[in-house]
Amino acid sequence: MVTYSRCFHCGHIASVGIPSHPEPMPCPKCQSTGAEEWPPRNVSELATFVESLDRASPHYSSVSAVFTCALLENLLESQVYMMAMMDMGYNDVGLLTDLLMEAHQGRTRLLQLYRRVGYRSFTEDASRAGCPNFPANWETIAKARNQVLHGRPNAAEDITYSLITNVISNALQVFALAHNEYNSESHRYKAAAGDPEALQADQERLEKWRRAVGHLPEDNGS
Ligand SMILES: [Zn+2]
Repeated sequence: MVTYSRCFHCGHIASVGIPSHPEPMPCPKCQSTGAEEWPPRNVSELATFVESLDRASPHYSSVSAVFTCALLENLLESQVYMMAMMDMGYNDVGLLTDLLMEAHQGRTRLLQLYRRVGYRSFTEDASRAGCPNFPANWETIAKARNQVLHGRPNAAEDITYSLITNVISNALQVFALAHNEYNSESHRYKAAAGDPEALQADQERLEKWRRAVGHLPEDNGS
């Protein structure tokens, strides 16, 4: 698994340098040193667990599908939460964001919310990150996971080690890029930079956000 680090100062995620590195690499965005490992521990522990599963076991497909989906949804939820906060303070939008997140649990709804509060759909962002097949592969694993959870473990037999490894590696690539985009393109940053195009894009995002708040899905489970 490629190791990423998240800058303590600006939050930028880079695919080089880890805190324990003898000579810490400066952040490519703000040039300061000091970073923590990314993804966060709960996600990397899931990745380590999935990696440790016995590929020869008849249960490999079903077990890896379940835990890989947990890992991916964890990454997606953190990303969408960050996008929905739009770099605003918790006092300003935190309660509404919590409400939005509560109404969009599960992969499908989170992906809808991603499109509503982001600049593009998740599929488009995955392509921009160089992983055009990632959303479809994720869906394959999610469908298998759902079958497993409904008592049909054999439905996951197409889930192979190479698919799982590929999807986890792609996920880190896609979510690191998405994180950086929505991290650096903050309202305040753009306003301070006086970039009219960026400001307009942010206005559009804010509009989408308002619409998302106004269109909470009915609560019928996820
Ligand atoms: Zn930085």
